[in-house]
Amino acid sequence: MPKIETKKCKVCHSDIPKKAKKCSKCITDQRSWVAKNPIKAILIGLIGLLILIAISTNNSQESKEKVVSTFNEQSRQRFDKIKESFPELDSIGCYNDDCTNVVYFNLSSIPDDLEFIIRSNTATFSNFKLKNTGTSHVTIFATYNSKTIFQCDGLKGIVDKCK
Ligand SMILES: [Zn+2]
Repeated sequence: MPKIETKKCKVCHSDIPKKAKKCSKCITDQRSWVAKNPIKAILIGLIGLLILIAISTNNSQESKEKVVSTFNEQSRQRFDKIKESFPELDSIGCYNDDCTNVVYFNLSSIPDDLEFIIRSNTATFSNFKLKNTGTSHVTIFATYNSKTIFQCDGLKGIVDKCK
């Protein structure tokens, strides 16, 4: 007669067949909670997964917003410094108070090397944005008497086009 493998009942500690789902003496279910409640286990697993997805999505949105607001402050400080070292600049404006995309160099007089100044600032601003945010599209306008006299678009750290 082959020897039947046995285990101890969880409750009454009787020897019962290893594959038995219930104890033959005290009728206690020997299976794990997951095996007894497969649908509940799957539902709880799914809910946990959804919560994890929601948390990670929320985190990545928050960190993106933080990068943008930090970059706005950084570029504002950067343009404030440029203004100090550039006597023909009356003021530097940012579109909707947002210095991450469109910046205006408002001039009180037109410097000889205006095109060079706008081109080089567009390239460095685009490069600066690329390094800090991963995107790089920027536009710098030169205005004189409230009219645009020159403008450049920058992309991927270089001047894309000017007019
Ligand atoms: Zn038992």
